[in-house]
Amino acid sequence: MQSKIPSERVRLQGLSEVNPDGKFVLYWMISARRSRHNFSLERAVEWSRELGKPLVILEALRSGYRWASDRLHAFVIQGMAENQRQFSKRKVTYYPYLEKEHGQGRGLLAALAKQSCVVISDDFPCFFLPRMITAATNQIPCRFELVDTNGLFPMRSTDRVFSRAYDFRRFLQKNLLPHLADFPMADPLRNSKLPSLDSIDPAITQRWPAADPAKLVGDLDGLSQFNIDHSVGVSSIEGGSKAAQTRLTVFLNEHLALYGQSRNEPEQDVASGLSPYLHFGHISAHDIFDRICRIEEWTPDRVSKITKGSSRGWWNMSEAAESFLDELITWREVGYNMCALRSDFDQFESLPEWSRKTLEEHTSDPRDHLYELGQFESASTHDPLWNAAQWQLVTTGKMHNYLRMLWGKKILEWSPTPRDALDVMLELNNKYALDGRNPNSYSGIFWVLGRYDRAWGPERPIFGKIRFMSSANTARKLKVKGYIQQFTPGREGEPRLF
Ligand SMILES: Cc1cc2nc3c(=O)[nH]c(=O)nc-3n(C[C@H](O)[C@H](O)[C@H](O)COP(=O)(O)OP(=O)(O)OC[C@H]3O[C@@H](n4cnc5c(N)ncnc54)[C@H](O)[C@@H]3O)c2cc1C
Repeated sequence: MQSKIPSERVRLQGLSEVNPDGKFVLYWMISARRSRHNFSLERAVEWSRELGKPLVILEALRSGYRWASDRLHAFVIQGMAENQRQFSKRKVTYYPYLEKEHGQGRGLLAALAKQSCVVISDDFPCFFLPRMITAATNQIPCRFELVDTNGLFPMRSTDRVFSRAYDFRRFLQKNLLPHLADFPMADPLRNSKLPSLDSIDPAITQRWPAADPAKLVGDLDGLSQFNIDHSVGVSSIEGGSKAAQTRLTVFLNEHLALYGQSRNEPEQDVASGLSPYLHFGHISAHDIFDRICRIEEWTPDRVSKITKGSSRGWWNMSEAAESFLDELITWREVGYNMCALRSDFDQFESLPEWSRKTLEEHTSDPRDHLYELGQFESASTHDPLWNAAQWQLVTTGKMHNYLRMLWGKKILEWSPTPRDALDVMLELNNKYALDGRNPNSYSGIFWVLGRYDRAWGPERPIFGKIRFMSSANTARKLKVKGYIQQFTPGREGEPRLF
């Protein structure tokens, strides 16, 4: 088949044969939960057109995964309601499925795959998704492709794992440009002229009835029917592609110009707030990049010939735009590189040797403060700034980036061992953060322990050569009084989110 999707983005899983007797092409949407700028959807449309078969899009939400909660469910279901709206305008069959009890949805994919010519899904490199794909491969009796629509650089077009952002940035400066010419279509279903499907086999829809996400969004009390953690409440940050676009527009119009200089100020909160949308695939990095390029009137011929890995100057854009793109592309995608290429990305042993060594040398250093998971979780430490950051996370589902670094460093300092600290960070981040369970969760948490960083002096107790941060220094550098007041634990943190 002639395809516009770059071959580095497509991976064949299992069988390669198309089932000519299949009734439709199936796009099993698992991480790129959107209708626009989506290489996976575009690939599925190409197959539908090639085979002259209808397209079915299955977007399911399991209930039995670790950390499943009202907060995560609401965000995903809001996204599904938006997808339901978008796809209803197109000639595709959208099949939203919500599992109430763990295991209820088992068999649905296999039943649909049996009637498919080809199955396409998203290539997402962490959390339970790679394991789910491996298990699914055995149940798909036709061609099964995974498409990488995560970022600007295709994850698998290098086999090099980058241990420093600087090396990755330099690599991108030498290798990214050709990939920028391969942009996903903004709206792959527009004028797609696909044949339509009368209905999905009733034997399937009776056993696994399609959900009505719009109805649930209208009444989130309905989340009580799912067997998930109801103690992590719904965030006031609304999920879905439409909310993501609104967020992006506000950021570009009101905050981007301040991003370079004020990003670290917790009380200004000029960062984009896009990470939850990027995580659940409600917005595409390509789309964000494109919007920035338009504002900057940027064309690829503007890049600098100097490719030494500097975070400034290569794009030849404004300082603010370059600063933002360094986060969106270099820092975001170096995490995808790690997760795609190293299966131990979430293990302590994956830390660089120097950091493991120094942390282990200082494991038995005395600690002035020691806390257990429950004390951390309830924001009950002696440190008001740390408690405020934790409380922001618990009550809103996000934490300011600079404070996230401090948050992790203090967990390291106040835990019995670095391995305990790692467990606490993973648990709290992935349970409460909307953007948790993402490659960048592991980048950020492991950065606290030395990944992507270098050794620092002087060598200190507990930290050894690991970079140290303190609340006192943070309070000297940044304005935090208002932030501490706003997120005093116990108060229903009134989130002044965007
Ligand atoms: C301990 C710790 C835990 C973290 N956990 C997560 C997590 O669970 N999920 C997550 O997406 N990020 C995580 N980060 C990275 C970073 O804090 C967030 O990506 C950022 O704060 C998201 O806010 P934003 O969308 O407003 O970012 P912006 O500053 O607007 O940046 C735009 C995008 O660039 C990417 N980005 C920004 N900063 C970083 C960074 N330091 N590392 C990697 N990518 C970055 C994100 O995709 C972000 O949405 C963590 C960092 C630390 C130190």
